[in-house]
Amino acid sequence: MKRILIVEDEEHIANLIETYLVTEGYHCICAFDGKAAADLIEKEKFDLILLDIMLPEINGYELLEYIKPLGVPVIFLTAKNKVDDLIKGLKLGADDYISKPFQIGELLARVEAVLRRYGNVEKNLFLGDVEVEIKSRVVYKAGVPVELTVKEFDLLVELMQNKNVALYRDRLYEKVWGEAYVGDTRTLDSHIQRLRKKLGWDNYIKTVFRVGYRLEDGE
Ligand code: CA
Repeated sequence: MKRILIVEDEEHIANLIETYLVTEGYHCICAFDGKAAADLIEKEKFDLILLDIMLPEINGYELLEYIKPLGVPVIFLTAKNKVDDLIKGLKLGADDYISKPFQIGELLARVEAVLRRYGNVEKNLFLGDVEVEIKSRVVYKAGVPVELTVKEFDLLVELMQNKNVALYRDRLYEKVWGEAYVGDTRTLDSHIQRLRKKLGWDNYIKTVFRVGYRLEDGE
């Protein structure tokens, strides 16, 4: 599930966007000021950030400079129709912008377009004799396709994008399942077991005591 961060100090607008994107199948988190947004961006991974320019604490331009090195696409939400501001946003590296007030359908179209653009340039992932094709969601083991469920695939991608990093159970669960972790480890653990089995990865996916899991490159 794609995760979208909505940074907007007008709470009714943020909530409206959230409600709409959730019904379209996105997982959304709202931040109502720049500081809260910076904290979230530091702690969590997002596939896309909708970013208001005029914000309390830290403004959208400042946040953008912080987001850019992370490679997360950004769409500016702006009440300003002044061309200068829009050009500044795009020059700083925003992927698109939308002027308020906007039609919610237009916002969705832009969200989808930006995500598609990023999805198309996503690189395949490799580890040992396993290759993951992000775009087609096909996994190969020694050149032979391996059948994975949707969640097994998402979990595998998450592990491979964080090679050699110990991942906390709750964070891993929330990232893959897109919902709050309630302390039941069985779902996650059984998916890990199946991944180990299907990929022959007993030695690659390590259990980290009291933390969660770590994928090691074995070298
Ligand atoms: Ca604002």
